[in-house]
Amino acid sequence: MSEQDTAIERESMPYDVVIVGGGPAGLGAAIRLKQINPELSVCILEKGSEVGAHILSGATYDPKALDELLPDWREDGCPMAETPVTDNWHWFLTRSGKVAIPHILMPPFMSNHGNYTGSLGNLCRWLAGKAEELGVEIFPGFPAAEVLYDDNGAVIGVQTGDMGVDREGQHKGDYAPGMNLLAKYTLFCEGARGHLTKRLKAKYNLEADSQPQKYGIGMKELWDIDPEKHVPGRVLHTQGWPLTETGSGGGGFLYHQANNQVALGFVVTLDYANPYVFPFEEFQRWKQHPEIRKVLEGGKRVSYGARAINEGGWQSVPKLAFPGGVLAGCSAGFVNVPRIKGSHTAMKSGMLAAESVAAAIAASREQDSLDEYDAALRESWIAKELKLVQNAEPLLAKFNGDIFGAALANVDMWLRTLKLPIFPAMKHHTDASALQRADLYRPVQYPKPDGVITFDRLTSVAFSFTNHEEDQPCHLRLKDAAVPTAINLPVYAGPEARYCPAGVYEFVDPDGAGPRLQINAQNCVHCKTCDIKDPTQNIDWVTPEGGGGPNYPNM
Ligand SMILES: Cc1cc2nc3c(=O)[nH]c(=O)nc-3n(C[C@H](O)[C@H](O)[C@H](O)COP(=O)(O)OP(=O)(O)OC[C@H]3O[C@@H](n4cnc5c(N)ncnc54)[C@H](O)[C@@H]3O)c2cc1C
Ligand code: SF4
Repeated sequence: MSEQDTAIERESMPYDVVIVGGGPAGLGAAIRLKQINPELSVCILEKGSEVGAHILSGATYDPKALDELLPDWREDGCPMAETPVTDNWHWFLTRSGKVAIPHILMPPFMSNHGNYTGSLGNLCRWLAGKAEELGVEIFPGFPAAEVLYDDNGAVIGVQTGDMGVDREGQHKGDYAPGMNLLAKYTLFCEGARGHLTKRLKAKYNLEADSQPQKYGIGMKELWDIDPEKHVPGRVLHTQGWPLTETGSGGGGFLYHQANNQVALGFVVTLDYANPYVFPFEEFQRWKQHPEIRKVLEGGKRVSYGARAINEGGWQSVPKLAFPGGVLAGCSAGFVNVPRIKGSHTAMKSGMLAAESVAAAIAASREQDSLDEYDAALRESWIAKELKLVQNAEPLLAKFNGDIFGAALANVDMWLRTLKLPIFPAMKHHTDASALQRADLYRPVQYPKPDGVITFDRLTSVAFSFTNHEEDQPCHLRLKDAAVPTAINLPVYAGPEARYCPAGVYEFVDPDGAGPRLQINAQNCVHCKTCDIKDPTQNIDWVTPEGGGGPNYPNM
């Protein structure tokens, strides 16, 4: 049964299939299940206040999976059809200049020809409508808080979070216990660093034969820009400055989308060693590059948000099936890192999971291990695509994101494309273990925000429309409350005060009695960086009360 209090009486609802997460993976799975067998009862739990509220992506979208799922999507009012990619640029930035990398030098799959650019959140909203038309029940504002197991250790469903619990854990007047949603099969589609996925990986040892997952923190803004500067369908990716100054990895993107808007963002690979690296400030610095700044001048920022992205690639894909459940999408991790694309692979993996689930239920099976899904995925185009790029991120990381690493990564991708791989699949270490002691580095000086192009974190969080019920237990749990001041602050100069893109963690000392960690949990945008990067792995992100978190309009 649940790891939570078993004394509380909870309502149970049986389904054929319960899906955790209404992103491309979960929605792709739900639609495919109903296409195969309209009689199946399928529900999706989504922790955001609506489908799309917690989705943050670029996005430049490869329609390969959507073409298979709903071939008429372009003529069917899908918002992603609005802006096909027209221009496709890739730059290596120096502090004030750029080197344009001709696409002819890169393998053909790096081209964005045939792709679209738009809001992944809006694509998910549209997919949710399609799923509901097919009879899928979607419960927004209901986080899956616990996994339910039977006596043999098989997953039998999930429990939604309790509502109306105060910050001390006491029931308030409006207390409503979470429900048990029981299923023949449960699909975990939580996206990068899902909190139930983390537990399932540990319980079933799903990473025994794979490398540890790696991540980046992606921060994104949406701007209304001067129509004169807007070129619908132009997509730009950058590498190099400013991360070259701290030997860190990552890069930027700027996509000209519909309605005179640009979506721009910056990903900092979370395996950085220097604890003074401040990902949010790196993003602000990048916007000051003359080539980026000139696009934004005269414009207005309308949204901000942040989310972790998987970067481990093919070698970090864990075992996908266990008794009663599977991992799909970024819960498992199918992002093609050099393409910065994971939504097409997420959707395809959800569809493959659905096909295995539907066949198993048709054969009167339930709550066993769908190893055929794992096998089908490893034979699918997802595997072929990811194997071609599996050394790109490790090579970039090895050479601290500089141009030599980028060139080597390109050579490796070419050799794999030409079926002449010479380097074996490279290994990873965890992002948390990559952080080094602060006394090995000098603090990094970041410029102050100008309030025009660059901003501070708190002003930025307001543009994520984040909201949490204030009187509830803190959803950022410290395993040991003493560690932040006993280890993180003296040894690593308190990195949580910098890596959180929402300024949730602050070391304060109001009465001079010594510093303590203050956690402003109500600002959390659910990016999961703290759960990933904390050097002592002392922070456990759990789901807050339903509907809490960002309310992204079209990220
Ligand atoms: C900055 C950035 C830029 C990106 N750019 C691109 C791009 O241009 N193109 C591209 O293809 N990909 C891009 N990606 C990657 C892409 O966004 C992901 O690969 C994709 O969103 C994964 O889909 P998913 O369904 O697995 O997970 P998600 O899209 O993360 O969806 C998971 C959903 O599950 C919900 N959820 C999580 N846990 C629970 C729970 N316990 N209970 C209930 N609900 C839960 C979440 O609220 C969310 O709605 C980018 C990612 C980032 C961060
Ligand atoms: S508290 Fe953690 S999950 Fe929330 S915004 Fe900060 S780093 Fe991200």
